[in-house]
Amino acid sequence: MNKKHNFSAGPCILPQEVFEKSAQAVLDFNGIGLSILEISHRSKDFVPVMDEARAIVKRLLNLNDDYEVLYLGGGASLQFLMVPFNLMKQENGKAAYLDTGTWASNAIKEAKRLGTVHVVGSSKAENYSFIPKDYKVGSEYDYFHCTSNNTIYGTQMKTFPDVDTLMVCDMSSDIFSRQLDFSKFDVIYAGAQKNMGPAGVTMVVVKKEILGKTGRDIPSYLDYSLHIAKESMFNTPPVFPVYASLLTLQHLENNGGIAEAEKRNEAKAKLLYDEIDSNPMFETFCKKEDRSLMNVPFKITDESKKEEFDNAWKAAGINGLNGHRSLGGYRASLYNALPIESVQVLVDVMKSIK
Ligand SMILES: *Cc1c(COP(=O)(O)O)cnc(C)c1O
Repeated sequence: MNKKHNFSAGPCILPQEVFEKSAQAVLDFNGIGLSILEISHRSKDFVPVMDEARAIVKRLLNLNDDYEVLYLGGGASLQFLMVPFNLMKQENGKAAYLDTGTWASNAIKEAKRLGTVHVVGSSKAENYSFIPKDYKVGSEYDYFHCTSNNTIYGTQMKTFPDVDTLMVCDMSSDIFSRQLDFSKFDVIYAGAQKNMGPAGVTMVVVKKEILGKTGRDIPSYLDYSLHIAKESMFNTPPVFPVYASLLTLQHLENNGGIAEAEKRNEAKAKLLYDEIDSNPMFETFCKKEDRSLMNVPFKITDESKKEEFDNAWKAAGINGLNGHRSLGGYRASLYNALPIESVQVLVDVMKSIK
């Protein structure tokens, strides 16, 4: 197979070893004479997969037993609704949101169904080209919600505020990519398909003690407490995506964990941003200090060279470089599994456009 240099924003590249082991498990899971696709989620072969997939997240994020890890359906988009259902008070519920992009504003839209939402900071008027920083979040709010990395606009929170309430973060597009004090957060969620596995499952990390305090009647599937009580097997979990996510996280753990991934990600991002900054043919959309290490949207300054550039990167075996429809231009996603060699191929193509 002639593997492409895959810069896709999601679903996206995963380690080659994960593709191979997943393919093997579809044919014969652990040598049991059955495919992983045809066994019960409650079988003695699958239960350890779910247990380990939950445990490895806590090891990698350095979280203690105050936290529980869930694997749920519905994408990160369902978390936009599950978060307010579980954390916003029934009476006079009020939450603070940071509006840093399309996903953040989608989260705001869902939360408004259940209570009052105060947008404490927004960069919408400037096309989400920076991360707002001058805001305070007091104890009058049930929780604060932010998005660590803005997949579409290419900005990333480098620091997180100290807030006087619960801290919730959508980390869909940079989970496991950099070291953070994850114990600062009460809820972390991430659609797997950006940096930890295939589409079809969403990881949710919840601090147990924050639950059960809203006075709400929560529909069963939306209730974190129920999923925790059932050890993430309230209903049939997305068996195969959970297994492939486990393989991805084992690959990460065996390759130096988040600390080493962060170094590789910084080197990849530096290589690309240095080229964009020094090559007059290209420019980014956002403020330098807020640039994402994961998603790099950029544009070509001389539109007459667009066709030449498009032909050149396609000929070089690059995939997934077209920008999101709301921003245009290009977007290079540099997720954990993308090798630096692929970034070098892109940079060489950029240098060749004169
Ligand atoms: C992709 C993405 C989502 C949406 O994820 P789904 O799993 O498709 O619902 C939400 N937030 C961020 C930051 C994303 O990158």
